[in-house]
Amino acid sequence: MTPFTYERAEDPAQAVQAVASRAGARFVGGGTNLLDLMKLRIEQPRHLVDLSRLPLAAIDETAEGGLRIGAQVRNGDLAADPRVRARYPLLSQALLAGASGQIRNKASTAGNLLQRTRCAYFYDPHMPCNKRTPGSGCAAMEGHNRMNAILGASDACIAVHPSDMAVAMVALDAQVHTVLPRGGGRVIALRELHRLPGATPHIETQLGHGEMIAAVTLPPPPPGRQLYRKVRDRASYAFALVSVALVLDLRDGRVQATRIALGGVAPRPWRADAAEQVLAGKLAEAPSWRAAADAALAGARGHGGNDFKIPLAAHTLRQTLTAAAMAAPKRA
Ligand code: SF4
Repeated sequence: MTPFTYERAEDPAQAVQAVASRAGARFVGGGTNLLDLMKLRIEQPRHLVDLSRLPLAAIDETAEGGLRIGAQVRNGDLAADPRVRARYPLLSQALLAGASGQIRNKASTAGNLLQRTRCAYFYDPHMPCNKRTPGSGCAAMEGHNRMNAILGASDACIAVHPSDMAVAMVALDAQVHTVLPRGGGRVIALRELHRLPGATPHIETQLGHGEMIAAVTLPPPPPGRQLYRKVRDRASYAFALVSVALVLDLRDGRVQATRIALGGVAPRPWRADAAEQVLAGKLAEAPSWRAAADAALAGARGHGGNDFKIPLAAHTLRQTLTAAAMAAPKRA
């Protein structure tokens, strides 16, 4: 590990200044991803600012009827919160589908959003990787790319964002609240937080240097049945091959509204807008689910080893829609 200095932040404004004032400084929360990357010398921060003791670990009701989730709320605590389980079961299901119990008890909400890809070549300093070393190439493009992206990728990078939690939050229209080094803060729709790779896959989010996530807010729970379904190589402690976060609202046997986000398929949690539009007003039946899956995967492109993800994602979306429709409360 490359030597670094360390300080524990006492309040958000001081934390932001401590990073913004030093090139090579980084925030650390739970450290469940960053410390692994530091041991491999893939990340080599010169200074760490520890956010874990900041007063950002509460889950509060908002005036609008939603929830405000502090950036340092642990993934395990968020999954177990009775309000999350009752009103946002999709989020609780996604969190419990991610990582292991030990990691969930350490990993923070903000850290989960900002975790790096698990593309195998990103973790191998002997292989070219535009995300790790800009301009070096992409070993995954012609290599072992079974876990890589089929949507939103570029010729420079086909890595996927690995979070389950973020996929559920995107389906729930979550917003990210930040603290800026110049003072004040801003609000970013979570679906816009992560950048598509384009020619600069090493720039992964909209956040500037020293900008800190303080909280994530969820709007009031949308009507309808919520479901998170994850397909992976083993039953626990595995990243998604494909996942679907779904909110399905039916009335008189027709689709009133849907929210669909896909995980494991793109460089960011992938909101399937086209599928949602296709489903509006449609009968809740198999042909509608097929049309939605076709729309969701219309622009998908495989790279050999991950071609299977295209039919797998379509099948998983159809199955999730079917399951949600069968369990959805009937409204007239
Ligand atoms: Fe690196 Fe992205 Fe290519 Fe993986 S897909 S090797 S992260 S550039």
